Amino acid sequence: MSMLAQSVEILTSIVGRERISITEADRTLHARDQSAFPAHLPDVIVWPQSTAEVSAILRCANEARLPLTAWGAGTSLEGNPIPVRGGIVLNLQQMNRIIQIYENDFQVTVQPGLFYKDMNHTLARYGLFFPPDPGANASIGGMLANNAAGIRTVKYGATRDNVLALEVVLADGEIIRTGSRAVKQSSGYDLTHLFVGSEGTLAIITEATLKLAPLPACFSAVTAAFATVEAAAQVVFDVIASCLEPAALELLDTTAVTVMNSEESINLVAAPHVFMEFNGASEAGVQERLALAEEICRAYQCLDYRAGSGREARAQLWEARHRIFEVHRRYYAGHDYLLTDVAVPISQYPTLIAAAAGITAELAATSSIISHAGDGNVHLAIFFPPEDDDARANATRINEHVVNRALALGGTITGEHGVGLGKQKYMRQEHGPAALNLMRQLKAWLDPNGILNPGKVVADER
Ligand SMILES: Cc1cc2nc3c(=O)[nH]c(=O)nc-3n(C[C@H](O)[C@H](O)[C@H](O)COP(=O)(O)OP(=O)(O)OC[C@H]3O[C@@H](n4cnc5c(N)ncnc54)[C@H](O)[C@@H]3O)c2cc1C
Repeated sequence: MSMLAQSVEILTSIVGRERISITEADRTLHARDQSAFPAHLPDVIVWPQSTAEVSAILRCANEARLPLTAWGAGTSLEGNPIPVRGGIVLNLQQMNRIIQIYENDFQVTVQPGLFYKDMNHTLARYGLFFPPDPGANASIGGMLANNAAGIRTVKYGATRDNVLALEVVLADGEIIRTGSRAVKQSSGYDLTHLFVGSEGTLAIITEATLKLAPLPACFSAVTAAFATVEAAAQVVFDVIASCLEPAALELLDTTAVTVMNSEESINLVAAPHVFMEFNGASEAGVQERLALAEEICRAYQCLDYRAGSGREARAQLWEARHRIFEVHRRYYAGHDYLLTDVAVPISQYPTLIAAAAGITAELAATSSIISHAGDGNVHLAIFFPPEDDDARANATRINEHVVNRALALGGTITGEHGVGLGKQKYMRQEHGPAALNLMRQLKAWLDPNGILNPGKVVADER
C-alpha cells in the first residue's frame, strides 16, 4: 500500500468517513484560489472539528512526509492556498465557533474557520466589530495567515494589529499557546506575530483572541472626482497629513470608475475618484471633519463632490467598492488578469501613483488602479486577452516596474495579499540575503520535513 493510501486510512480513523474526501469534485474545489495562478489538485481533503484532530492529522502528515496546506475560504489573490505539491488540504471551515465574547474587554476568542462577516454579524448585537475588512468573506484563519487588511486599515490597522493571542499546532502535532488577553504584552519573543502573515508555512492556527472596536455611532461617506489621478493622490496625502483620521480612504482611477459605472446602481463621473468615510461618536465631530475634507478636495478643483450621512450612504459606497474586483472580472470576461499589490510610506504615495499611471499609459495596457490609498497600498488590476502574448508580457512589465518603484520608495512588495506564489521572486530584493536566510532557517526549524504549505513564501531559491 502506498504512503498516501496508508495515510488516508489513518486520516479516516481520525475524522471519520464523513469528513474526508478524495473525490475529483472536492479536489477541484480546493485546487485554486481567486488568483490567476494555475490550479493544482490535492490528493485528499480533510475537515477537522477540533484542535486535537488537527494535531493528530499533522502528526500523520509529518510522519508520512505528506504536504499539508491549510484552507480557509480560498479567497487569496496570490496563490497562497494552492496545494502546489499535492498532498492534504486541511479545510478548517468546520472549526467555526465563537468560543467566547469578552464584551467588557472588547475581545473575542474564535476558531479559525469562522468567516469574519458572520462573526461581525453576531458581534453587532454587542455593539462591537472586528475592523480588518478584506471585502471577500474570508475566514479568520486565512486573514491571520495572510495578515489581511482592507478599507478600514487606515484607521484600525491590519489583522496583525488586532490579534492578542493564538493557539497553534506545529508541524509535528504539538499544540502551543502564544500571547495573552492583556492589550500590552512585553513578555519574551513575539511568537503570535511570527505566525501572523506566515501563510500556513510555520503552523496551523486553531484558535485566536482578537481585539474588537465599538461600532461607531455616526457615519459619513464622500466621493470626490478629480481631473487627474495625480491630483486625487495629492488629496489622499493632504487628508492624512491634516490628521482627519478617515475610517477609509480609497483611490480609483478613471478605468476603475468606468468599469464600476457598468453596474446599474452606480453613476459616477468618469474620472479619478477618492472615496472617504469619516465616523465618530458625535455628528458634530463627523461634520467638522467632512467640512475640512471638502475644503481639501475643492483646493484641488474637484470635478464632482458628493457627501452623505448615515448608515445607508456608507453602505452604498462600500457595497460598490467591495464588489469592484468581481465587477472587473465580469466586465473583462474571457480575459486573463494580473493583480499588483504594493505599499509605500504615505509621503511617497503620489509618486507611486504617478509611476503606475505612467507605465500603464506608456504600454497602453488595460489596467485599473484600485487603491487602499490611506495606508499607501496600491493595486493594479491588469487585464489581457489570453492569446495576446504581448499584452501578457506588458502586464508582467508593469507589475515589475511598480514593485521596483515601491521598493525604491521605501515600500514593500506586498501590502496585504501576502507572498504566496507570485511575490517570492522579490523576497531577496526586499529583505536582503541575510534576513531571507534567517526566515528560511526559522521555517526549517519549525517544519524540518517541509510539509506545511510547501512551495510558498521562502521556498523560491532566487
Ligand atoms: C473580491 C476580493 C477582494 C479582496 N480584497 C482584499 C482586501 O481588500 N485586502 C486583503 O488583505 N485581501 C483581500 N482579498 C484577499 C483575501 O480575501 C485575503 O487574503 C484573505 O485573508 C484570505 O482568507 P481566506 O480565508 O480565503 O484564506 P485562504 O485563501 O483559504 O488561505 C490563505 C492562506 O492562509 C493559510 N491558512 C488558512 N487558514 C489557516 C489556518 N487556520 N492556519 C494557518 N494557515 C491558514 C492558507 O494555507 C493560505 O496560505 C480579496 C479577495 C477577493 C476575492
